[in-house]
Amino acid sequence: MPVRSAALYARISSDQDGTALGVTRQLEDCRRLAADLGWRVAAEYVDNDVSAYSGKRRPEYQRLLADLADGLRDAVIVYHPDRLSRIPAEVERFLDVLKAARVQHLQFVSTGGIDIGSGDGLLVLRVLGAVAANESATKSRRVKRKMDQRAELGLPHGGYHRPFGYDDDKMTVRKDEALVIRGLAARFLAGESLRSLAIWLDAEQVRTVAGGPWRTSTLRAMLSSGRIAGLREHRGQVIGKARWRRIISEAQRSRILARMAEQTVSGRRPPRRYLLSGMLRCGKCGNTLFSRARETTRRYVCSSGPDHGGCGRLTVVAGPLEELVAEMVLIRLDTPVLADALAGRMHDDERGAALSEALVDDRHQLDELAHLYATKQIPARDWLTARKPIQDRIDTAERSLARLSRSETLAGLVGHGHQLRAGWAQLNLTRQHAIVAAILDHVIIAPGALGARSFDPARVDPRWRL
Ligand SMILES: [Zn+2]
Repeated sequence: MPVRSAALYARISSDQDGTALGVTRQLEDCRRLAADLGWRVAAEYVDNDVSAYSGKRRPEYQRLLADLADGLRDAVIVYHPDRLSRIPAEVERFLDVLKAARVQHLQFVSTGGIDIGSGDGLLVLRVLGAVAANESATKSRRVKRKMDQRAELGLPHGGYHRPFGYDDDKMTVRKDEALVIRGLAARFLAGESLRSLAIWLDAEQVRTVAGGPWRTSTLRAMLSSGRIAGLREHRGQVIGKARWRRIISEAQRSRILARMAEQTVSGRRPPRRYLLSGMLRCGKCGNTLFSRARETTRRYVCSSGPDHGGCGRLTVVAGPLEELVAEMVLIRLDTPVLADALAGRMHDDERGAALSEALVDDRHQLDELAHLYATKQIPARDWLTARKPIQDRIDTAERSLARLSRSETLAGLVGHGHQLRAGWAQLNLTRQHAIVAAILDHVIIAPGALGARSFDPARVDPRWRL
């Protein structure tokens, strides 16, 4: 019976094994073979950039199977058996479909025709499939092993883009970008949000290596990466020192991670709206005041009701209060008392360094444990048990570090209150808030005199951190 409705199948794979042929070339060869055999081609099925080994979906292959099952095709031409599948079970499934549909003709450009009616033909196909599968597995093992070796040597991995801060060799530090990274790290540790930093980068026309604008997710990934601290990460774990130079210290990275962790723990809060959000307490009931725009005047109010639970009987005008508190903060930054207090913080710096070091050790240990578990050297239960005390230590250290990093916000500011005052209005709100929050724990607002219309500074009772 002459072939009236043959199917051609071609696939280009993303695995760069050197044998991957362009789809066009595959199709041309298949068409030539069809012409030689005198088969009428009814349809061509082409999958782009999917490997028969990766397990990714191949929509055209599925369509081919469906059409075969529906009896629409009476013959199939494929370039090479490995284009069909490298997974033996899948080859079997393909053969089952052919058998069920009574399709007698299967031809390969590279290996010739296979008589699928005979046992020998099937055997040949299975062997070819198995060889292809083994080649592929060996190759992916080889690639993995090479990646492991590079990681162990502390060499960079072979991504397409160079990392921000480094040259195309992924080793040499780019001075201009390193400066940007150090600036970002310092500002993040001083309390600025990732969002605010992304806006700043955009304003400064600093682009990502791909030439696009920075997103908070990209920034987060870069600032938390081991890479900029000279650490080699592999499969999500720090595995040791890298060969390239660091841009920030490991201690700084620990603090960055601590601050990120603190933010995650406190949850995704809505963006801070006002300078004193969350820092004011009701003088009557002790509840936190919330800002509320009422009529024309913005106020901080004590809210009653299920979400807030305050007494609902205290309000204060926002504008004058914010001005007064900012002024108090600026004056306090100029006092010898604060300078002394900060001098005392030198101990904290030493403590911070020790904490960071311990943190780095603990993280390494956690990574090692994870590796033992991942490579099945220890069972999950042992992993979890051993993990617990280390994780507890890490949590405690991270909390202490987060506390310490608040005093870092003030580095270089003490004694410059008058200079800071001149530029205060130009600082963005997160930065202003960070400075205020670094030295001011909270402010108690006393009840106002009944019927008083103007703001009374005597109601303001600041509780300082330093
Ligand atoms: Zn209240």
